[in-house]
Amino acid sequence: MTTKNGNLNDGREVFFNGKKIEDLTTEVIFSKTLKVIQRYYKLRETDPSMSFEDENGESISKLFITPRSTEDLIEKRKVYEKIARESCGMLGRTPDFIDTGVAILPEYASVLGSDKKANYFENALNWAKTIRHDDLFVSHAIQNPQLDRSKGLQQLLDQGEEFAGVWIKEQREDGVVVRGAKQVNTLAPFADQLLVFNLPGLHPEDSKFALAFWLPLNAKGVKTVCRKPTFRGDDLRDHPLANAFDELDAFIIFDDVFIPNENLFVCGNVDLSNAFFAGSGIFVHTAHQDEVRGSVKLEFATALAVKLAEKLGLTGFTRVQEILGNLTINLEMIRASVVASESTGHMEGDVYTPNMQILLAVRSTLTKYYDEVLSVIAEFSSGSAVGVPDFKQFEIPEIADILKSSLTSPLMLAEERALLLNLAWDVANESFGQRQRTYELLHGGNPMFIKIQHWQNEDLSAGNDMINRILGDAAKSKAK
Ligand SMILES: Cc1cc2nc3c(=O)[nH]c(=O)nc-3n(C[C@H](O)[C@H](O)[C@H](O)COP(=O)(O)OP(=O)(O)OC[C@H]3O[C@@H](n4cnc5c(N)ncnc54)[C@H](O)[C@@H]3O)c2cc1C
Repeated sequence: MTTKNGNLNDGREVFFNGKKIEDLTTEVIFSKTLKVIQRYYKLRETDPSMSFEDENGESISKLFITPRSTEDLIEKRKVYEKIARESCGMLGRTPDFIDTGVAILPEYASVLGSDKKANYFENALNWAKTIRHDDLFVSHAIQNPQLDRSKGLQQLLDQGEEFAGVWIKEQREDGVVVRGAKQVNTLAPFADQLLVFNLPGLHPEDSKFALAFWLPLNAKGVKTVCRKPTFRGDDLRDHPLANAFDELDAFIIFDDVFIPNENLFVCGNVDLSNAFFAGSGIFVHTAHQDEVRGSVKLEFATALAVKLAEKLGLTGFTRVQEILGNLTINLEMIRASVVASESTGHMEGDVYTPNMQILLAVRSTLTKYYDEVLSVIAEFSSGSAVGVPDFKQFEIPEIADILKSSLTSPLMLAEERALLLNLAWDVANESFGQRQRTYELLHGGNPMFIKIQHWQNEDLSAGNDMINRILGDAAKSKAK
């Protein structure tokens, strides 16, 4: 356990800013982000509504509730909302994301079966039990590096591309040695464990890549290579979001990593690998958490747009009023859809499952709504935000007084105004905000495939009945 107790120095190999980080506690960006993630564990300790008592009298996080009814999903939503509000929805992959999938894994794990190598079903049961008992933070690595999407994984490996995905390099009696890479893993440097698997789409010849497994971040051979920071390291007042919530993404290299048999959920079976995400139940339940987290972020950005309009004296303009109305309507559509996904769920075996069609509609639409609110924030504020001096300049004796009086408006004092505009700048313009925008666009998968999948699964029978009736009536009338 590392995330909860804050000791990330467990031998994990994390590379950042041109060097291997020897002491993760002394790098500001790591200690800051870790503290934000740990707020979840603090909430667990201080807020009784975050936990429940299981059949053994053990206090368990509500993330691990196996939903049996709409009410259970509502309970879980309230927990996701509390966690998301700690970072205004800016941390995308907090512990609740994968943990809620782990909660239902035992109910689905029988599909994983067993073979001579391992009992994958039992592995999943044991793993889920440990994660729940220890309340561990699991991060997930799915997407394979975008080396050449026109080719299959085995084809790339045959050409010598060893890092096109994660593949079985050596089969051993007690496990497998894997090699390769996963292209992006948000918050990986802070997690206790990684869950590694593939999205559907492996070809029959890709059996070496057909893997799903867990491993600790400090497993020998795992190299976590962080992206460039959006964290600025200056005064928090100058970058209220960028300096608080940079959830580092990382490229993960597997340099001949041994995975014991007990850690495997899929090994060498392409059909099972392709089925893992949806078949394990993880897809739909993590989607519920994800859309709740997204709605919190939209709530934050919408409130910010409204506050800017109020504090910049814009609310008297009819055009601005209409824009704000559009934003609040968008927000309500998302909130209502999340609630509808819970109330129109269904039983899958013994698990009450949210309505995936609604969740995918939210995922697809939230991207647009988030973009819309960012444009509004930028339109309202960027012209003046771009001229806001950094806070140190308010302390230069030569200009401090005149600066303060010239930047003070009837609606706000200079420093208050600068702070609000800096917040707007971080959301809509700063590299932090651009990364957040990209996150909303892509983190849930390729937007094109989400739409295609939605159309393919939509129940249009009631619409078709009406069309058939009208066409039938029209055809009969012609015959008369
Ligand atoms: C900020 C951020 C954080 C993320 N965090 C995580 C994480 O923690 N864990 C994780 O596993 N993943 C994470 N992701 C990755 C995310 O899952 C992928 O970015 C997403 O699924 C899109 O995949 P891709 O970028 O590889 O796009 P690709 O699949 O490579 O596609 C890129 C574009 O190429 C075109 N294209 C590709 N294939 C096809 C095709 N077959 N047919 C037609 N057009 C095609 C499309 O225009 C597509 O949009 C994150 C992504 C971002 C941006």
